[in-house]
Amino acid sequence: MEIRPARSIFSAATGFIRRGGYDWTCNPYIGCTYACSYCYAMFLPQNRRPLSEWGRWLVAKANAVALAQRFAPKVAGQAIYMASVTDPYLPAERTLRLSRGILEALIPYQPRLTVQTRSPLVVRDIDLLRQFRYVGVNLSITTDCEEIRRCFEPKAPPLEERWAAARSLRQAGISITLCITPTLPLRDPEAFARLIAAFGPEVVVVQDFEESHGCFGADTGPRARQLLKHFDWTADHYYRFRDILQRYLKVYEGEAGFFPPGPRPSSDTTTSHSPPTAQSTQSRRHTLPLFS
Ligand code: SF4
Repeated sequence: MEIRPARSIFSAATGFIRRGGYDWTCNPYIGCTYACSYCYAMFLPQNRRPLSEWGRWLVAKANAVALAQRFAPKVAGQAIYMASVTDPYLPAERTLRLSRGILEALIPYQPRLTVQTRSPLVVRDIDLLRQFRYVGVNLSITTDCEEIRRCFEPKAPPLEERWAAARSLRQAGISITLCITPTLPLRDPEAFARLIAAFGPEVVVVQDFEESHGCFGADTGPRARQLLKHFDWTADHYYRFRDILQRYLKVYEGEAGFFPPGPRPSSDTTTSHSPPTAQSTQSRRHTLPLFS
């Protein structure tokens, strides 16, 4: 791992994140050691290393906390998505505590904060998360099968640890968006739907894989495509699961499920903060996969 200073810690939101109503993204790290085979971040132009090395390198922003302390007033009350192209709770975070330091810097300025992660380490910072008036954790739980998880997300935390994190967040009163994005092959879609419904997340989002013919944007990557074939998982399977899940609770699809907690400032009229209806989003296609 490399540790080096960065120029910025809050970047103006773009693409689906902006469309969802966020003002800023915050990425304490560059790269991601969870190594998900479907990750769009590996295609980012700033990640110049070979795709085959995705998940094997990481840059920590040495001055992330100092930058956050300096620029937190600028993002006061606005919507922040942390993180869009890495996971803020990678194993390195356990000792570096960059995400924790950023949260501490933000608390006095009360942005509307979404933390996007698949890591149980997020529970370490519940004490800080509870100090935000508007906060939500988007927790990625992408399948019901540990073997499938290991194939697609070889270095990411086990599913049961994520469910345990979800329960801890729930006990702490933190709003949870359950991100089944992308929806990986499932062993028992009916049972998985019942499990999700029984947990009752505030928001649940599903999303199928997409092709972009090798261009940056919505490419799922060759390894993920191979795995989908291996597990014989098609768009039909995905839609079947989505329909089953909809029998139990309201389901958002793709980018429609990604919106910040709390009300939008009245001065911002570019995007409605009201969550779109499931019906309005079911056939909507997005231009960027929504995983982290
Ligand atoms: S999808 Fe998220 S957790 Fe997985 S490698 Fe990409 S940034 Fe990391």
